[in-house]
Amino acid sequence: MPQINPLDLLTEEKCAELLREVRWKNGLKCPYCNSFNVRRRGKYGDYFKYECLDCKRIFNDKTGTIFYKSHLPLRYWCAAMIYYDLGYSILRISRELNISYDSAYRLIQKIKNGDDEIVIELKEKVCEIVEPILTHFKKEEKQEEIIDVSDVEVPREAINFMLELIRVDLEKRKNKN
Ligand SMILES: [Zn+2]
Repeated sequence: MPQINPLDLLTEEKCAELLREVRWKNGLKCPYCNSFNVRRRGKYGDYFKYECLDCKRIFNDKTGTIFYKSHLPLRYWCAAMIYYDLGYSILRISRELNISYDSAYRLIQKIKNGDDEIVIELKEKVCEIVEPILTHFKKEEKQEEIIDVSDVEVPREAINFMLELIRVDLEKRKNKN
C-alpha cells in the first residue's frame, strides 16, 4: 500500500482551476446555446458560475461534463484517472479512495468512455502535479513484480509454484478490470 495518496496533492480548488484551464481554453462558451456572450456570476464552491447573455441560462465550470451532478468531488475523479492509468483494479481504486466498489466502478466506466478532450487534457495536467508520487508508485509496482531468484537457493518446483500463483493473481486482476 502506498504511503502517499494523489488526493494529498490535489485540492478541489486546484482541480477546479485545471478544469477551467482545459475547458475554457478557447474562451467561455455557453454549454446550452454555444454563445460566447457570457459573463461571470459568482461562485459555486470552488467553481465559477456564469450567465449566458443570449439564452439567459446559468451554468458553472462542470456543467455539461462527466463531472456534473457527481456526488464525488473532482479531486476524486482526478485521483481515479491516475489509478486507472496505473492499471489498478476497481477494488483497489475503491479502497484507495475510500469509496464503495459500485461508485468506483461507475467512476471508471465514465472515465473510460469519456474519451473527450476534457478528460484527456485534464488527466495530463493532473499527471504533472502528481508526477513526484507517480514515480514512487511505479517504483513500488516494479518492486512487487520483480522477483530476483538469482542468489537464492530455492527448489525449482517452489519457484514454479510461486510463479503460477502470481500468474493466477495477475489474471484475476486483469479480469477485474
Ligand atoms: Zn446560452
